[in-house]
Amino acid sequence: MKLYAGKIYWSRTKSSEMKFKKVDRNIDTDVLIVGAGMSGSLCAYVLSLSGIKVTVVERGKIGYGSSAANTGMLQYSNDKKLSDFVRDIGEEKAVLFYKMCLEAMDKLTEIVSNLEEETDYILRDSINYASVKKDRDILLKDFEYLSKYGFPAEFIDGEELKEKYAVDKAAALRTWHDAEVNPYKLIQALTKKNIEQGVVYYEKTEVDIDRIADEKAVTADGYNIDFTSIILTTGYTKIYPIIKDKCTTNRTYAFASYPMEEAPWKDKVMLWETRIPYLYFRSTADNRIIGGGLDEGINEVEYDENKIKEKTRKIAGEIEKIFPQLKIDIQYSWSALFYGSADGLPFIGRDPKNPNKYYLLGYEGNGTCYSVAGAYILKDLIKRKHNIYEEILRVDR
Ligand SMILES: Cc1cc2nc3c(=O)[nH]c(=O)nc-3n(C[C@H](O)[C@H](O)[C@H](O)COP(=O)(O)OP(=O)(O)OC[C@H]3O[C@@H](n4cnc5c(N)ncnc54)[C@H](O)[C@@H]3O)c2cc1C
Repeated sequence: MKLYAGKIYWSRTKSSEMKFKKVDRNIDTDVLIVGAGMSGSLCAYVLSLSGIKVTVVERGKIGYGSSAANTGMLQYSNDKKLSDFVRDIGEEKAVLFYKMCLEAMDKLTEIVSNLEEETDYILRDSINYASVKKDRDILLKDFEYLSKYGFPAEFIDGEELKEKYAVDKAAALRTWHDAEVNPYKLIQALTKKNIEQGVVYYEKTEVDIDRIADEKAVTADGYNIDFTSIILTTGYTKIYPIIKDKCTTNRTYAFASYPMEEAPWKDKVMLWETRIPYLYFRSTADNRIIGGGLDEGINEVEYDENKIKEKTRKIAGEIEKIFPQLKIDIQYSWSALFYGSADGLPFIGRDPKNPNKYYLLGYEGNGTCYSVAGAYILKDLIKRKHNIYEEILRVDR
């Protein structure tokens, strides 16, 4: 199953790439990570930094899974509002989950500061605006919870929103501790750092997921990999039976414009709206606009280039309605699979039947934030330590 189709942008922003050989003999390791996307890369970073011997195997090329189709908007706020989580799982768990996300953003900022290679990671404020007038109440309610628990958030009324950001909507929430990134460069920079930290990488090596035993995996070429723990960071490539009834499958669309002469809007804030599925957009260091949305409940990417172009033109048109002075000229457009969860939470934790097997599946729009949080949660679980977030995200919840 293809994860995306069309012309993706990020992989064209970096010319030199590392290459790794495939597994061509039996090997062993402490922790085996299956999949070298954002989740596998961050997991390898956190685990190797804590002294664990890590091997990463990737069936294709590092960083070319869904992470390459990512639009790189990193936020502590989730697709599902804090107030909606409070309604569904209670105030204590909801706030704990949001704290985990805020903490993950701060940890990522620190991780990036330790990387030598450029990642285009820049702290940016986010503006979540009311799609329609009545959504002002949704934002206000959410702001009450966010401010009650000290999350970095500000409620902005329509007049001020127009004056400060030239956005003509009834209200918005501004949040900070958020960031933009080039996800492809981030994975490459992490890979380089991880190698320095002793991580061993293999590409073009597929692990046979259905033949994973307590302490042994087998590659598609028939080689054994002995491990003490295995982490599956396989993204949307496989829906595991344990989460089958709890996840949602969609396809989505995104684009990158040609660079513009100057910043397209004030402070280069990252914008998204209250409507679900939502429109979201950001800019890049070279003043491109990257936008996405129009999710459809179809578990297959759109292959037809014309349809992809039609959809992404529609997204660009929506952005032009917000900022009528913009004329967006699209250079890259793509369609991609995008998975969510019925309760809005990612799937992170131990397999109930195999205590050495773990999942890090950052489903939902905040995937990168979950990849960071998951890396720290799994480090604790592998070291047989309790983690305060493990209960909320367990895969058999
Ligand atoms: C259009 C779009 C926009 C998005 N925008 C954002 C955003 O703005 N912010 C954000 O935080 N998140 C965003 N996301 C979500 C984000 O992309 C995902 O959370 C993230 O890519 C997941 O990373 P991953 O490492 O889990 O998966 P992937 O990047 O898909 O990596 C999984 C890897 O596992 C490998 N693999 C699979 N099976 C095997 C096997 N058996 N053996 C070996 N290797 C295997 C695959 O080849 C792949 O490389 C977006 C997603 C999409 C599609």
